[in-house]
Amino acid sequence: MLEKEFWFVTGSQFLYGPEALAEVEEDSRVIVERMNAAGSLPYPIVFKIVGTTAENITEVLKEASFEDKVAGVITWMHTFSPAKNWIRGTQLLTKPLLHLATQFLDHIPYQTIDFDYMNVNQSAHGDREYAFINARLHKNNKVIFGHWDNPEIQTQIAKWMDVAVAYDESYKIKVVTFADKMRNVAVTDGDKIEAQIKFGWTVDYWGVGDLVKYVNAVDAAEVDQLYIDLQEKYDYVEGQNSPEKFEHNVKYQLREYLAIKKFMDEKGYSAFTTNFEDLEGLEQLPGLAAQMLLAEGYGFAGEGDWKTAALVRLFKIMSHNQQTVFMEDYTLDLRKGHEAILGSHMLEVDPSITSDRPRVEVHPLDIGGKEDPARLVFTGMVADGIDITMADYGDEFKLISYDVIGSKPEEETPFLPVAKQLWTPKMGLKAGAEAWMVTGGGHHTVLSFKIDSEQLQDLSNLFGLTYINLG
Ligand code: MN
Repeated sequence: MLEKEFWFVTGSQFLYGPEALAEVEEDSRVIVERMNAAGSLPYPIVFKIVGTTAENITEVLKEASFEDKVAGVITWMHTFSPAKNWIRGTQLLTKPLLHLATQFLDHIPYQTIDFDYMNVNQSAHGDREYAFINARLHKNNKVIFGHWDNPEIQTQIAKWMDVAVAYDESYKIKVVTFADKMRNVAVTDGDKIEAQIKFGWTVDYWGVGDLVKYVNAVDAAEVDQLYIDLQEKYDYVEGQNSPEKFEHNVKYQLREYLAIKKFMDEKGYSAFTTNFEDLEGLEQLPGLAAQMLLAEGYGFAGEGDWKTAALVRLFKIMSHNQQTVFMEDYTLDLRKGHEAILGSHMLEVDPSITSDRPRVEVHPLDIGGKEDPARLVFTGMVADGIDITMADYGDEFKLISYDVIGSKPEEETPFLPVAKQLWTPKMGLKAGAEAWMVTGGGHHTVLSFKIDSEQLQDLSNLFGLTYINLG
């Protein structure tokens, strides 16, 4: 878990006297304490101040912008807080902003309500006064309306927190491309400078030879130990291979895993790409190695697709590395009543979506002209999810998605030993595939059973990114 927190700032003013302000602060502390104690939020909220003047509001929002541990600010207007007081601070705020339009009580206390109550409890109009200035400033902030103690509201806040942390962390994503991208492929190319300006992604080329040095330097004893340890999580299935070949080929992937991990950790990378066209000095295309790194939360995409590699990393942060994988539209079932896409990649879909115990297998790849790579073979999930891609259109990036229904393949594929996930777009395969292609969405995607289109919209708002959810 990343060490992040969210600051809570309550809006008020001096009009109602010190007693009212004391009550505003006490109520704010109760809200924050109880939301933290509910256990439904992934990151803690810290109550900061009751904002009463332009000066103290500006000060706290400047501080939030500066503090690395702060991933976002949550504001709420307990009373009427004249919104001109918020202009400068809001302009200077660089962190995601959630306006929680709530009220201390979830009801109207008909029998006791009086003007003392109304002097302190003015959220109904105070939150609208404040919301106006965020809209006027084009702040692209999130507004969540509802009672703070409602579990549905807290779920919504939790999802927004995950978006805010992903946004914040996006500016630290560094992708290493081992070799360049696959020759002649269009959709995996794009403007790396614009991606860095827009999303904060650093994308660096390193020669395969630089990685080979790390692979050759891996300690054999470490590989031997990992070979033993890995059998706790995965079944080893030798198949047609001799025991010696199986062990050698699996161990070579473990060597690649340790080498790539060390390379990335030493140099600060959190995502990587490979390209089967350029494996000079390597025995195998990283398969099991890539799957193990993905399972730990690193980003990856094949064929030098740095955009998707960065997206995988970004969405693994957002999903807490649960049920979120690199994916490719692999083959189709077009028969009526069976319409589905079988998703996979040659070797590199990670087991965060598995519904069975993955098997380590060694088979030929028939591409790249290298040794038979070890890979994890498993079957994916039955669940609702979302399939996401990003494309560079020259004048802008677009994020494209549709909602999907994940299901099990109807049969085993004994001659296609890969990790597999079947899905159908919720809008239907025909409508979904046509809309996807008309929009220009590519074949490399992030498939997630954890994040949803509202989160993608919120994230896109923060980036100023065009987002199209097809349905
Ligand atoms: Mn591919």
